[in-house]
Amino acid sequence: MSSLSVRNVTKTAGNKAILKDVSLEVRDGEIMAILGPSGAGKSTLLRIVNMLDRPDSGQVLVDGRNVWAENRLEMQRSMAMVFQKPIAFSWNVYDNAAYGLRLRGVDKAEIDSRVKEALALLDMTGKERQYARSLSGGETQRLAFARAVVLRPKLLLLDEPTANLDPANVAIMERAIKDVNEKYRTTVVLVTHSIYQARRLSTTAAFMMNGEVIEAGKDLIERPADPRTRMFINGELVY
Ligand code: ADP
Repeated sequence: MSSLSVRNVTKTAGNKAILKDVSLEVRDGEIMAILGPSGAGKSTLLRIVNMLDRPDSGQVLVDGRNVWAENRLEMQRSMAMVFQKPIAFSWNVYDNAAYGLRLRGVDKAEIDSRVKEALALLDMTGKERQYARSLSGGETQRLAFARAVVLRPKLLLLDEPTANLDPANVAIMERAIKDVNEKYRTTVVLVTHSIYQARRLSTTAAFMMNGEVIEAGKDLIERPADPRTRMFINGELVY
């Protein structure tokens, strides 16, 4: 459980403004959906929150602490990110899921209990000994999620975690996202272009376009204020 504040973040690449004065607030225990067309800057924002990228100006605060002013390892370890195109190490499923905990020096019994719990959450019990690179695309994505869940992050950052999945895998992932949020009170930031997914999962939302947050809040999906948000939610093409 963790709060996130993004304050006046800007980012340019070359001479292109990718994020223009972006501010967002995500409260403890919320699931925030970040919606918007491709190229809006959603992934860049998530990478900046996860400290994979540094903003040109502005601040990111987790629980009120400016992440770049604190111990980097400690701040990064309070969060976990799941990427759109996950990779699996060339080991079995269990070792893939246990990876982050071993890095952190967690003891064996604790690793075992957390890995089992995470694999159960992702409907992967029984696959522990399977070679991870022989998994289907959906299972690989679920394993990537399990690898994040075992860390019990306070803040979970998900970048289009179901973008390339079939409905059965989407259902498992969505249930797992909800379970993690409820069970561990994990705060979740979910980048998605699916308004349906946002409706099913999120407690609050933000709509981004062209590097800007157009609007944000609990009512965004049911009562969008800005005409561009309304168009996006109605399934019209906005870009
Ligand atoms: P989204 O996740 O909303 O699709 P991204 O954050 O991936 O958007 O990208 C926003 C824009 O910034 C895109 O136009 C993308 O091409 C551009 N962009 C992202 N990263 C870089 C980079 N390192 N160099 C140049 N342009 C970038």
